[in-house]
Amino acid sequence: MSEFVNVDAYLDEIKGYMPHYVFYRRGYGVPVLAGYGDYYESEKNSKLTDCYCTACNTRYEDGINKPSAYKHKDIGKCANCGAIVERRAMGRGRSTLREVRNFAVFEGAGDLVRIKCIKAELTFQGDDLEPNYDWWEVARYQLEPHKAIQFRTVWNIRERKWEWEPRKSKPSEPYFSSSWGYYCDNSYTLVNADAISNSFLKYIDREWPDREHLPAFYIKWLCCYAEHPQLEYFVKGGLYNLAGNIVRGHIGCGVRFNWKSNDLKKILRVSKPELEYLQESDGNIYADYVRFRNRVFSSKNPTETISYHRNFHNSVELIQSVKLITGLLPKKIMDYALRKQNRQGVYYFMTLWKDYLDNCDSLEYDLHNEAIIMPKNLWLEHDKVMKLAKVREDELLSRKMKELAETRRDMEVTDMELGLFIRQPYTAGEIIAEGKALDHCVGGYAERHANGATTIMFLRQISKPSVPYYTMEVSNDFTIKQCYGYQNNRHSEKTLDICIFEQRYQEYLDAVKKQRRKDEQRAKRKKRQQKAKAAA
Ligand SMILES: [Zn+2]
Repeated sequence: MSEFVNVDAYLDEIKGYMPHYVFYRRGYGVPVLAGYGDYYESEKNSKLTDCYCTACNTRYEDGINKPSAYKHKDIGKCANCGAIVERRAMGRGRSTLREVRNFAVFEGAGDLVRIKCIKAELTFQGDDLEPNYDWWEVARYQLEPHKAIQFRTVWNIRERKWEWEPRKSKPSEPYFSSSWGYYCDNSYTLVNADAISNSFLKYIDREWPDREHLPAFYIKWLCCYAEHPQLEYFVKGGLYNLAGNIVRGHIGCGVRFNWKSNDLKKILRVSKPELEYLQESDGNIYADYVRFRNRVFSSKNPTETISYHRNFHNSVELIQSVKLITGLLPKKIMDYALRKQNRQGVYYFMTLWKDYLDNCDSLEYDLHNEAIIMPKNLWLEHDKVMKLAKVREDELLSRKMKELAETRRDMEVTDMELGLFIRQPYTAGEIIAEGKALDHCVGGYAERHANGATTIMFLRQISKPSVPYYTMEVSNDFTIKQCYGYQNNRHSEKTLDICIFEQRYQEYLDAVKKQRRKDEQRAKRKKRQQKAKAAA
């Protein structure tokens, strides 16, 4: 092979895969009186259609199909050769017609296969009915037993041209980038695929006898197979998914194959029952299983390991978290879960347990006491601890609110004329109760209020000071963000009194804002003066 895949030798095959057209017009192909291609008034009523087919390269007159059967951009058959074609009006410009397709051209036999990936382009020049074909290369590969090389292009400065040189990294799928559009189709058609059947790749290629339905990552499959011919045992040994994951690079860390061996069990480092277990998922769980064996649990008896993995393969993260909190060994964790789980299964149990332990942690329980971390009735204890933690959280929020209460005092005001007053809530529980009483969502604001991210205010009637009436949210730049009564006023309009109060309160807040800024500046000035005094 002198040239690295002689694409021109397969140009006919490539043309066969490109789209074909029949260009048509009503009338005779060869008019009696005028030049080729002219249109005649008298031909308007002709029963013939003048056609040119790019599949059979023939100009002919179709007298069987009615001229009205021909429609621009319709898909149909060439009346001469039967090829599937797109019909195009002959008079319409072909200069905008452009089709690009991707191909992988194969060449070689025996122990050497070369692949050249190309983009082939079809265009029309001037009034030509015959398409113009062009192609350019986007990737090349060379496969030998135990060796797969992908090439990359480098600029040769001295010769001033692009050259191909072997890439050091592992081969990847070809990338048929397109410079003129956003859309990039990375599928490709095989050309001269017989070369594969006549080479060392034939054993893996037999898996896909139908060339129309190739697996995703087909070239990567071939590259992986060339490097590791044992991939064939994977496929034949019921581990097709695992082979596919290797090809796609979906294995992840912590997994190493013993490619030196020719025995599937040895390649995978598993025992016979383990191999049978892996076959249940066509090998899909292999990497997951190996990681489970390495990080969570591995018994001398593989059947035991399998049994634990079957139950806990979804709960690995949870086991790790519980282990981190409690210091328990994974086996003990799993045994406890198996003993105590209910019908919802171990994963559900593990999430509940983890939640329980998190609450215990926030309540500062002794997490080394097994009676606490592995209670007899986790379901009951979980609910108890959850309530306690909630109370504790409310206490924490209330404490924070108390700290901020003094600074918020200037936002409280009474309007004797309207018979209304506004005050801040004092505990988190109060905010939640307000939300419940008025059936709106202020309860969710307790934490933000406690942290000073926003301010919640209670608007009450002087006559009924302890009955929730309206609730307001004031942002940190002193603007009223929300003011709602029962059920967010979905079923009742705000009264005039409330609207007037809102207006007056906003004015009041503007004054508070000004005052606070003044106070701040005064405090700063004082500080500066004190500093100056201390320096003097
Ligand atoms: Zn034809």
